[in-house]
Amino acid sequence: MRSESPTATPVVTIPDAPPAFHLLAKPTGAVCNLDCAYCFFLSKEMLYPGSRFRMADDLLETYIRQLLEAHARSPLVTVAWQGGEPTLMGLDFFRRAVELTAQYLRPGQRAEHTMQTNGTLLDAEWAAFFREHDFLVGISIDGPRDLHDAYRVNKGGQGSFDQVMRGLGFLQEAEVEWNALTTIHAANAGHGRAVYRFLRDECGARFVQLIPIIERVSEASDDGSVPWASWRDRPLYVQEGTYVTNRSVSAEQYGRFLIDVFEEWVRHDVGEVYVQLFDVALANWVGEPPSLCIHSETCGLALALEHTGDLYCCDHFVEPAYRLGNIRETHMLELVASQRQRQFGLDKRDTLPSTCLECDVRFACHGGCPKDRFLATPDGEPGLNYLCAGYKAFFHHVDRPMRYMAEQLRRGHAPAEITARYRDEDTRRGRNSPCTCGSGRKWKHCHGSAVGRTA
Ligand code: SF4
Ligand code: SF4
Repeated sequence: MRSESPTATPVVTIPDAPPAFHLLAKPTGAVCNLDCAYCFFLSKEMLYPGSRFRMADDLLETYIRQLLEAHARSPLVTVAWQGGEPTLMGLDFFRRAVELTAQYLRPGQRAEHTMQTNGTLLDAEWAAFFREHDFLVGISIDGPRDLHDAYRVNKGGQGSFDQVMRGLGFLQEAEVEWNALTTIHAANAGHGRAVYRFLRDECGARFVQLIPIIERVSEASDDGSVPWASWRDRPLYVQEGTYVTNRSVSAEQYGRFLIDVFEEWVRHDVGEVYVQLFDVALANWVGEPPSLCIHSETCGLALALEHTGDLYCCDHFVEPAYRLGNIRETHMLELVASQRQRQFGLDKRDTLPSTCLECDVRFACHGGCPKDRFLATPDGEPGLNYLCAGYKAFFHHVDRPMRYMAEQLRRGHAPAEITARYRDEDTRRGRNSPCTCGSGRKWKHCHGSAVGRTA
């Protein structure tokens, strides 16, 4: 490793190091004020017995300095906070993080601050801080009250919906840029359109991330039930096991959910509401690198930093076998550029089973995330993604509109023109025709229905 330049952050160079990467820092480790039933990350507290679960001030400075040094050749660096629940650190911690970032920025370099939070502890002061420093805040919300509260509960088992909406209200009042992070699970899986309409119409979301809940376990009852309600006191969650809990979404449900949302979005919201998965799909149809690792050919550029300085290959692999090292001992860039991390990223492509290699939508899917590849293919080969049937259904369903939007982009037109095309087709559609989403319901009772809760 070589350092140069005595001013600001030195330029740290390592042969073949990536110019930019994404790192999720967890200043409270897995500690959270909620007890969401599906959150296996709660069990990661066991990695650090006896810890206070607070990132120390000197480590905060080391982290920010190294992050900016590692991005010295990149004009933009993202400083991303996540948990556990990062707001438990208190505002002063993040004030200091912003100050340190400004101190170590290089001329011409810009920092973007982001935080993923459950939203329950936010108030006007937090919101003013976020606004002042242009934070992009991700709020975890799983839909209307009954769907959200199914699993997103506090330690007393009470739903958190009211507190989340209250926190969101502060962000909206202060005009903080925010996005919705919505998990798809057994409780909300059958309500894609209702969840999406709620986020768009009642929360005013303009950025939506959809994340499938897949809780892997080594054993479960026939109905997928497990003998505990929370991961907080369970053995450390690791990516092992071929069963899933009954809170998990099934592949078929996942595909249907995405199609349900897509059929609403494509008619009303292209260019207005950004649904990450649709944008990622369009990038793959256009042939450009998508912004999401899961549907990229390789990965390895989205790492996780624990409150102790331990760096892990990925947020989903915070477990001993995937610990790369500690940034107090080894510069972050050395760990990011290590052969081990590179191999982790390449394995995503190089371990695909032949079913994926021969698949007609591999260009869009890329086999999904390796953490979910625990099925055998029909030929008995290991490594097929648990969500495969859902991915196939969704990518086949959107093939025609994605081709159209990709073509529009190639011609320099806005992809949003597809909305007019759909509307035109819809005016000729009989009210009793089968809905275009494939639900088997009549058009008038499904995506042809007026906006409102029609799950
Ligand atoms: S393991 Fe999955 S989530 Fe992690 S970087 Fe790779 S694709 Fe992304
Ligand atoms: S749809 Fe299924 S077979 Fe095709 S690439 Fe994705 S996981 Fe593999």
